[in-house]
Amino acid sequence: MNYHALAERLLPGDYPTLETYEAQYPPRNLPKGAEVTRLAPSPTGFIHLGNLFSAITDERIAHRSGGIVYLRIEDTDLKRKVEGAVEAVISALNYFDVKFDEGAEIGGDETYAPWYQRRRAEIYRAFAKKLIEEGRAYPCFCTEDDLTALREEQTKNKEITGYYGKYAKCRNLSEEEIYRNLDAGKPFVIRLRSMGNPEIKHKFHDEIKGDITVPENDQDVVILKSDGIPTYHFAHAIDDHFMRTTVVIRGEDWIASLPIHIELFAALGFPLPRYGHHCSLMKQDGESRRKLSKRKDPELSLEYYRKEGYYARAVKVYMLTLLNSNFEEWYLKNPDADLNDFPFKAEKMSKSGTLFDLDKLNDISKNELSKLSAQDMATFLKVWAMEFGTPEQQRYFEDEEKLLRVLTLCMGIGGKKRRKDFTTASQAMKFIEFFFERPMTYEEFRFEKDVRTKILKQFLEGYRYEDDAQVWFARVKEVASANGFAAEMKEYKAAPEAYMGSVADVAEILRIAMTGKANTPDLWTIMQILGEEEVRTRISALLN
Ligand code: GLU
Repeated sequence: MNYHALAERLLPGDYPTLETYEAQYPPRNLPKGAEVTRLAPSPTGFIHLGNLFSAITDERIAHRSGGIVYLRIEDTDLKRKVEGAVEAVISALNYFDVKFDEGAEIGGDETYAPWYQRRRAEIYRAFAKKLIEEGRAYPCFCTEDDLTALREEQTKNKEITGYYGKYAKCRNLSEEEIYRNLDAGKPFVIRLRSMGNPEIKHKFHDEIKGDITVPENDQDVVILKSDGIPTYHFAHAIDDHFMRTTVVIRGEDWIASLPIHIELFAALGFPLPRYGHHCSLMKQDGESRRKLSKRKDPELSLEYYRKEGYYARAVKVYMLTLLNSNFEEWYLKNPDADLNDFPFKAEKMSKSGTLFDLDKLNDISKNELSKLSAQDMATFLKVWAMEFGTPEQQRYFEDEEKLLRVLTLCMGIGGKKRRKDFTTASQAMKFIEFFFERPMTYEEFRFEKDVRTKILKQFLEGYRYEDDAQVWFARVKEVASANGFAAEMKEYKAAPEAYMGSVADVAEILRIAMTGKANTPDLWTIMQILGEEEVRTRISALLN
């Protein structure tokens, strides 16, 4: 068979040589040991935790080694392209402090551009042509129906499905048959002519999983589709070689394709990059664990964290906790450190499923937010509210002094211990709502209406805004005694049957009347912040 003539017929024209490309995309000028990593998402518009998981790993490995991390867009599957998707990836990851040095919509060293696979058609064709010339790739004219029939036959015979060995019908077409098909205008794809034998297995070192065993590939995978667009496999080999990636970090789903990639790199004459396959994020679902699902789990989407107003550092801390087994201990010792100082290592990553637990993230969030100053908290809330809050919530920021007093109280700043009531911006804004808006609903009052009416009335009559906390509390006790409630807790505890309740119950009635809630920070301070008029209005509203 004249492979050169065939290559010319299939992909006519002159293409640059391997040497030309090698010179055009030279090895990167980086210090020894510097790693080049990349995130290579498809622009589907859906950015998820798995992307963040990979991206933090990429970014940490690159930057800790003095290397670079770039963004490549794998848009060969045009059906999935969504407008604005690339910007969305960048901004979603920026939110979590993952910044790329180079790539699509970022720029950087143009030597390795373009970073969109659709704009790299020529290079894929050049190498497909080269493989055809060398007899390592061939045209396949099988139709969808042919392939479906093949799959059904293989399934029936309990054999591995795919296009390989004796099943690879077009692999051994004669020159005459090939040209007949071409003359008839039949569409074709280009397939790799695999030389592997899956019975033969090799040891392979994965940067994350450690030593694994990988069989040889025997699948004649498609490298160029009928429209001349490469498949993931082929584009991956060419791009990661010429963009000079040193270590490919990707999800463990790709391990199954590793044999293909090993053979493709060899066929192309490229050295194999190192690989690290990280495990999937799992969710506990009753007794079992399953992968997080786009359909069932809103928390899979990174948008979720922005909309809910998660504090970016908290999410990053949690991700690092999941990513490196020794992070938690390091962070306990260095709670205020720059997270980038943590000595991140691929080999410290989990080798099997990682459990993602929103409750754990929420605990971390509470902890992280409790460390902020009132001013930083106000800034954090404002950024969220201006994008996602209601118009009423946006008005909370008009009186900054009041807002800072609210936050100081709600965060327990200046108290013995910081409070940990805030989890996210949306939740915190709900939490402080009663300072700015009259309660619309009230948690259940535990006492009869006439009891609480008397209590509220008497409290209102004796209320003086100027009273300090002690005088104020003494007054609450008086109201308690006057209504059959114990003024002192120890009196109540000694003989609960003798009383309607205790001063704590009286305070609860006042608290619900004021805030709608049975649990809040210090009530006297709340009344101070609300102001005399508002205190009176809220109680009167309930009395009428
Ligand atoms: N486009 C692939 C994906 O989104 C990239 C996998 C890789 O990183 O190589 O899964």
